[in-house]
Amino acid sequence: MVLTGGAGFIGSHLVDALIGRDVHVVCVDNLVTGRQENLLRHAADTRLTLVRHDVSETLGIGGDVDAVLHFASPASPVDYQREPVATLLVGTAGTYNALRLAEEKQARFMLASTSEVYGDPLLHPQVETHWGNVNPVGPRSMYDEAKRAAEAFVMAFHRSRGVDTRIARIFNTYGPRMRDEDGRAVPQFVNQALDGAPITVYGDGSQTRSLCYVDDLVDGLLRLLDADRALPVNLGNPHEVTMNELAATVRDICGSNSEIVCQPLPEDDPRRRRPDISVARSLLGWEPKVGLDDGLRRTVDWWRSQRETAPPVARASA
Ligand code: NAD
Ligand code: UDP
Repeated sequence: MVLTGGAGFIGSHLVDALIGRDVHVVCVDNLVTGRQENLLRHAADTRLTLVRHDVSETLGIGGDVDAVLHFASPASPVDYQREPVATLLVGTAGTYNALRLAEEKQARFMLASTSEVYGDPLLHPQVETHWGNVNPVGPRSMYDEAKRAAEAFVMAFHRSRGVDTRIARIFNTYGPRMRDEDGRAVPQFVNQALDGAPITVYGDGSQTRSLCYVDDLVDGLLRLLDADRALPVNLGNPHEVTMNELAATVRDICGSNSEIVCQPLPEDDPRRRRPDISVARSLLGWEPKVGLDDGLRRTVDWWRSQRETAPPVARASA
């Protein structure tokens, strides 16, 4: 199997699950937002190969390949706004290259798409048939439009070239191995709470997200890969919380005294997000099992363990 973006947060958890199924995995990753250490536990395992390469360039892999999973892309707003052109390229040229590889190898293909294709949604909760409400020239457009183009590439290869494709529309996912500095709400709030620093809620904190623990997501992704469906499938946890609630829950779980402060709301920040997962439920028999408190506890435990091995001062100067 070929997994682009395999050294990233979700990609590395997918690698764990695939190796657990005795699958041989070739990860192709340029490490722009990923880390080799995410794959450290498999360093001596011959079933895993890491190829350091930009998939927006070309993608040639020798030997048989039964599936190509395209997960390479900066994913956090901080990361994709720092790398706008690379983000557009990996969603377009990178998706094309990954699809060409699947076509050449007669392999199944899966795209890691996103709830961002719905933009600031006009329907709530979001169903797969919603076409979305995206600002094509806004500060999130390099990501949203790249993923929308990626979905169009997938459907074109499916319809006109017979490639066996899957599109996973992933909603906000969190867990161990997110980077301290990736800027998403969970890593920000956890690090701030553990430091006793102010927890920065953007806007008035009434905007919502629905957060899925990474183990649940990986389970859904593997079920989708095994299923027979080319049209997009939402994967996420329908439990919706405001960012104020999330900040307070993280603070409690960390046993922190941090104050919660408001900072300006970024432009085009979606107001509400919650997946309708009826399709995943009926098609895949899938449903998230890890509740928010439980998932956040596991995530905070992981961050604490990281801090024990690399204290904050060392991390800051590394
Ligand atoms: P991440 O940044 O941790 O992982 C992305 C990986 O892709 C990194 O290892 C990075 O180095 C690699 N990459 C980026 N551009 C590349 C390129 N041109 N060539 C090769 N490798 C490249 O992000 P993540 O949260 O693990 O997201 C993984 C995928 O899932 C992304 O496609 C993202 O859009 C999608 N997704 C994630 C979420 C989420 O909440 N985490 C939600 C929706 C969709
Ligand atoms: N957010 C916040 N404080 C932070 C980081 C993010 O209030 O320090 C908010 C952000 O404005 C958004 C929500 O949390 O409304 C989720 O942001 P994230 O970057 O995690 O994901 P996305 O916006 O891509 O869904």
